[in-house]
Amino acid sequence: MSDLRFDNKVVVITGAGRGLGKAYALFYGSVGAKVLVNDNGCDLDGKNTNPKFADEVVATIKSKGGIAVANYDSVLNGDKIIAHAIKEFGRLDVLINNAGILRDKILAKLTEEDWDIVIKTHLYGTYSVTKAAWPIMRDQGYGRIVNTSSGSGLYGTLGQTNYAAAKAGIVGLTLTLAKEGERRNILCNVLVPVGASRMTETIMPPDVMSGIDPNNLTPILAVLTHESNKEYNGGIYECSGGFFSRVRWQRSEGVSLDLPVKISEVQKNWAKINDFNGKNEYPTGNADLFNKVQENLERLEQQ
Ligand code: NAD
Repeated sequence: MSDLRFDNKVVVITGAGRGLGKAYALFYGSVGAKVLVNDNGCDLDGKNTNPKFADEVVATIKSKGGIAVANYDSVLNGDKIIAHAIKEFGRLDVLINNAGILRDKILAKLTEEDWDIVIKTHLYGTYSVTKAAWPIMRDQGYGRIVNTSSGSGLYGTLGQTNYAAAKAGIVGLTLTLAKEGERRNILCNVLVPVGASRMTETIMPPDVMSGIDPNNLTPILAVLTHESNKEYNGGIYECSGGFFSRVRWQRSEGVSLDLPVKISEVQKNWAKINDFNGKNEYPTGNADLFNKVQENLERLEQQ
């Protein structure tokens, strides 16, 4: 298969001045896209701002013959970011919501401000930029969106209640958008990356850092956000160091009990409720649970 190109496609990437977003921007800039490099240049904890990071990425893209423009707005002002892309390039095809910060503390030490700024930057920021992009993508009947979650959002990580909650929220947001966007050819997926950046440099040893070069994350972005992807929507993809996989929910076979349910019946069936070695299912929507309820009610009616 030949490498994918993005000629004349307009790509907006948030937090693209450093880290993973920078790798994404340089990639899209190298395959024909017109790239809006958004980054407010803040410190890891969200304090201060600096335009130089976005500027440097734009300069690098341009020096290699690519097309890019810098944007320094916070992702809290998604309408400004999208308006800038439209003013500059006249359209919008791909949105990568990537900007993020950290305020890691155990819950006992977390302040309201630590909670708010992390939830706002990741979850509200993803919402805000997407909300501004959505009507444009809907009206043109085309859009490819990738939102960034984290292992913390899927599994929880000590000291990251704020970050994990935001990243889990991004999963729910994206899975819902995947359902809302399907009819309009707007495909939305979740990336769960691990890559070398200032976020990981304090927790990963140097040999691991060299193995998780963020440039190795760009191929899956290319596949998911290219116009040739007409099918893959609502996926959660874990990617790092050359490993790629898709994550999904799994439901144990469970039990359907007589009504009214007795505590003793739940206790008696506790092992089965928790057992993932039976006839597991992979639910993808609320209807899956309602079907189970319906089946149980029908069973009881026939008794
Ligand atoms: P990074 O700190 O290197 O880069 C994030 C960029 O976002 C920074 O340049 C920062 O200035 C920018 N930014 C922060 N707040 C912003 C705002 N309000 N508006 C605009 N720009 C803003 O971090 P990274 O490691 O490259 O992380 C990128 C994304 O990937 C984040 O969402 C992060 O949570 C997620 N992630 C990273 C890893 C990893 O291994 N690095 C793992 C899981 C998830």
